[in-house]
Amino acid sequence: MADSKAEIVIVGAGIIGLSIAYQLARRGAGRIMILEKAAAVAEGSTGASSAVLRQRYSNPEMIRLARDGLRAYSNWSEFTGLSEPRAVYQRTGMIWMVGDTPEAAAAHAELMRNEGIDAEVLDAAELQRRFPALAACSSALDLSGATEHECADGGPFLFERDAGYTDPVGAAQDLLEAALREGVELRLRQRVTSIRRSGGRITGVDLAGGCSIDSPLVINAAGPWCNQLNSMAGIKVPWTLSPMRVQVLHRDRPTEIDGPLPVVADTTGGIYLRPEGRGQQILIGAIEEEHEVIADPDDFQRGVDPEYRETKILGLHHRLPALPHRGRVTGLAGLYTVNEEDVHPILGPTELDGFLVANGFSGHGFKLAPMIGSQIAQSLTGKRASFDTDVPIDYLRVDREPITVQSKTAVA
Ligand SMILES: Cc1cc2nc3c(=O)[nH]c(=O)nc-3n(C[C@H](O)[C@H](O)[C@H](O)COP(=O)(O)OP(=O)(O)OC[C@H]3O[C@@H](n4cnc5c(N)ncnc54)[C@H](O)[C@@H]3O)c2cc1C
Repeated sequence: MADSKAEIVIVGAGIIGLSIAYQLARRGAGRIMILEKAAAVAEGSTGASSAVLRQRYSNPEMIRLARDGLRAYSNWSEFTGLSEPRAVYQRTGMIWMVGDTPEAAAAHAELMRNEGIDAEVLDAAELQRRFPALAACSSALDLSGATEHECADGGPFLFERDAGYTDPVGAAQDLLEAALREGVELRLRQRVTSIRRSGGRITGVDLAGGCSIDSPLVINAAGPWCNQLNSMAGIKVPWTLSPMRVQVLHRDRPTEIDGPLPVVADTTGGIYLRPEGRGQQILIGAIEEEHEVIADPDDFQRGVDPEYRETKILGLHHRLPALPHRGRVTGLAGLYTVNEEDVHPILGPTELDGFLVANGFSGHGFKLAPMIGSQIAQSLTGKRASFDTDVPIDYLRVDREPITVQSKTAVA
């Protein structure tokens, strides 16, 4: 006997589940219920996210999805319909210091400009004119510290003018407020423990407390727990989706680093960095997938490893030579789910009727979230809404071939 009914059940109140709920509800998709095992939204990957919004990708479809996502985040009040949203987009621009040859940098800039994105190539002198705090060195650091490093100005550097970052938890709370306004129901502290099926299709879910919800449609938006949900549904997706432990550092930003600071992707020191909050801090993370696969997403080390902290701070000092060594460094580890085959998400229907997935976002889920919701909602309702993307949901479908990428890292 079911305790409740919904036309659509979404499992997970991270940025993906909340976006799908809002996008469905603003199209009048019926009674939508989000089930979340934690006591609040954004308790999984989303709360730990660096929330960098950039548009450089290997393929035009991903560039367009990232562009359309950035458009939503940078017009957040209009997108959510909230007059004073918590998340405020910080448009800093982004510099790519990733060893591009002049030809590769020019080709990337053109690929992006073809999609209406403001991208240009800077030489070392122009980089330093715009961002005096940044060294223009392109020579790789020996992170073991064994060899003496000599900086050598390099380039070219691809620059995305509209890139930046936002507040991940604030954005999730905004989407929740917008979704509730549209009639979505959120049930917190409700862990889905099994998925009911009959005659080859979904009929509902059971919850840890013994309750159950009837529903003909269930969407797995469970982030790093996605494999558990897929097993409950009795399906096997043809992809390896691995929860990975990902560390980030926060460092006080001293007055010595007082000019404009963009988001920086820097392979010489293996880091990315960006201002944090309204710019009072610097956030530092790893640019390559040097992360640890986690067997149980409920059990992982949330602190930062000393060696990670040491090497990333070395990389930071290399890129910001005026940075003094005094200053507090804190850090945290979160999880994201890497699709080991092509680091792209899988999205949409599965072999089980009524069971959809939105899984395997690797390091891209935050920026894509508004458009993942758009794609699912367009496919389920056939209706368009403002800020929709034209990238078809099929591009990321579960039974697609792996997408060819230039780098099987979060950069992709
Ligand atoms: C350190 C870090 C930095 C990142 N940086 C960026 C970035 O700069 N840009 C970017 O675009 N992306 C970034 N990402 C990736 C991005 O944050 C994620 O892809 C995105 O947040 C995934 O959202 P989600 O909703 O799928 O997952 P989650 O936020 O993990 O949400 C899933 C939810 O499902 C719930 N759940 C799971 N199982 C159950 C169950 N059985 N019953 C009920 N509820 C359940 C969980 O409690 C959780 O709240 C980063 C991620 C991390 C960790």
